[in-house]
Parts: sequence; C-alpha cells; structure tokens
Amino acid sequence: MSHTITLIPGDGIGPEVTAAVVRVLGATGVAIEWQTEVAGAVAVGEHGSPLPERVLESIRRNKVALKGPTETPVGTGHRSINVALRKQLDLYANLRPLRTLPGVKSRYTDVDVVVVRENTEDLYSGLEHVVVPGVVESLKIITERASTRIARFAFEYARAHGRKRITAVHKANIMKLSDGLFLDCCRKVAAGYPEVTYDEMIVDNACMQLVLDPSRFDTLLLENLYGDIVSDLCAGFVGGLGMAPGANIGDDGAVFEAVHGSAPDIAGQDLANPIALLLSGAMMLEHLGETKAATRVREAVNSVLAEGRHVTRDLGGTAGTTEIAEAIAARVSG
Ligand code: NAD
Repeated sequence: MSHTITLIPGDGIGPEVTAAVVRVLGATGVAIEWQTEVAGAVAVGEHGSPLPERVLESIRRNKVALKGPTETPVGTGHRSINVALRKQLDLYANLRPLRTLPGVKSRYTDVDVVVVRENTEDLYSGLEHVVVPGVVESLKIITERASTRIARFAFEYARAHGRKRITAVHKANIMKLSDGLFLDCCRKVAAGYPEVTYDEMIVDNACMQLVLDPSRFDTLLLENLYGDIVSDLCAGFVGGLGMAPGANIGDDGAVFEAVHGSAPDIAGQDLANPIALLLSGAMMLEHLGETKAATRVREAVNSVLAEGRHVTRDLGGTAGTTEIAEAIAARVSG
C-alpha cells in the first residue's frame, strides 16, 4: 500500500535533513508519495504566513507529516508554528523515545526511556494577565479530559511496545488540585492495564533520580511543562538534541520531527547530523504499520554509528549529511 505524506522541509538545516530522510526511507522500498509544503520563515516570504492554510489542509488530508525544524523569531515576528500546529491539529501527545545509541559519547549507557508529554494545556494555555502593575497571573489549566486521554495514550503505547512500567511525574504535594486531578486520571486509566506497572514520583525527585541513573526508568508520563523540561533532560542522556527523535500525535493526525532546531549556524553546509530526523522517520514508519522497514532503518543507523566512519562533526567525525544518508541507505537496501 502506498502512503501519502506531507513533507515540510522547514528552515535552516531542515531541507538538508529532510532530504536525508527521504533518501533513506526511499531505500526501504515502502511506497511513499511525498507532498511538499512550505512552512516556517521561508513561507513568510513566499506565502505571507509562516503556516499557510494549505499546509494544515495537507496534513488533515494525509494524516501524517514529516517536518524539518522551523525558525521562530525571538521577541518579535511570527509565533511558533510548532505550537500552532499542535493546537490546530489537536496533536495532544508529544512522544520521545530516547535510547543509548552505539558509538555516541554520553555520560550514560543502557538508557531506554520513553517520555510522554501532554501537549495542549497546563501553563502553555497562554492565559496570562497583569492583575495590577507589578503582579502577573499565569493560569495553569488541567482538565480531566486532556489528562485522561494522555494517560490512555501512554498506556496504549506501553501495551503496543511491550513497555513494563509507567511513572507519572507530578508536584501534587504542592499543586494539590491541578496535579491531583492529573494523578487521579492517570490512576483510573492505569487500573485498565494490569500488565503495566504504574507508579508516581514528584518532579524534583524524578529529575535527581534520572540524573543518578536513567536506566532505572521505563516510560514517563507528564503534564506539559514538566514534560518539556524532563524530555530535554532525557535527550541529554543519549547524546543531546541532535540524536533525539520525536512525534506530536493526535487522534486525527501525527507530525514527526526531530527535537533540534534549524541550526542557522551550520545551514546549507552539509554539516547537519540527520540521525534525529532519521529516527523520527523510523517512528513514522512504525506509525504507518511499516514495522519491518522501521526496524531496518534503526538497525542501519545503529550499524553506521557503531562503525564510526560516517559521522558528523558534532559526533567527532568529518562526514557530511549526504554521505551519512548514502551510507545508511546502502545498509537499508542491503
Ligand atoms: P538549534 O537546535 O537549532 O541549535 C543549537 C545548536 O545545536 C547549534 O549549535 C546547532 O548548530 C546545533 N545543532 C542542532 N541541530 C543539529 C544537527 N542536526 N546537527 C548538528 N548540529 C546541530 O537551537 P537554537 O539555535 O536555539 O534555535 C535555532 C532556531 O530553531 C530558532 O529559530 C528556534 O526557534 C528554532 N527551533 C525550532 C524547532 C522546531 O521546529 N521543532 C525546535 C527548536 C528550535
């Protein structure tokens, strides 16, 4: 069966790393028709908007997108299109599987953590106002509906991927109502999945325990803000943002993208490390039911990294983005 997928090359190194993924996924033999759409700073020049309506229409139609990083100006200019995409398409689950990769220098070994972060509410609702000059109120919104659906997503993911334990991370000792509601919802959902061990940990302790020994954790389930911070912390365990894949998933669509940004300092020089987006591409294949192809991509990535001949500058090598894509594609096609 052929899959039609929206491809958003994005800004900076985006076109280079998305081209690498298209090359490697092409080598799997899975039939993919890519529909390229322009979003990000590049779209402002071409279409007058960083997120033209046709991009949203394309993802709504195809249900799956692969996205390169897009630039967000600091302070002024357009708002983050990542936040807009999540809101407009209701991509409520942010998923980051973080595993130790062979040959990649890091302080830890044997890390295999999945971070599931709620993507739509909490302190990210954008509800802030000045009460009186010098006093600002920022509203943390936690709902039963969003907490229940993210918990269900995490348990379904655990069931489908053979994960054994889910730890809900919270601060319900202080935010008794909001984080208390989140935990109530997690507990209710957990009761329906007796094969998955469920436990809870206060967020500050969870950060300390993670830094002491991340290999003790399996799957983490978090509200939006804690999830944002803890998922970057966990990316640091496996070699940093350049190695961290990710996905934003909803009931009607999914956008797969790496955690890193557009890296304007190295854009257009064939220096970008494509591994994070390649691993996001493997997650996308799995989402499409192409499990064997996903495994082949992961194995090819691991074998090229372990060998250490074709790695980019950030990993201590001298290879370019194109060379790595070719090396991995060659192993995928066998
Ligand atoms: P960044 O991730 O782009 O870069 C941080 C550092 O990491 C830079 O030195 C960069 O060269 C390096 N780096 C990042 N990805 C790399 C890769 N694949 N290979 C090799 N080196 C890599 O973060 P930033 O500089 O804070 O942000 C730059 C722009 O990206 C900003 O406009 C920001 O808003 C945007 N951004 C977008 C996304 C997204 O679209 N998902 C995510 C984060 C940042």
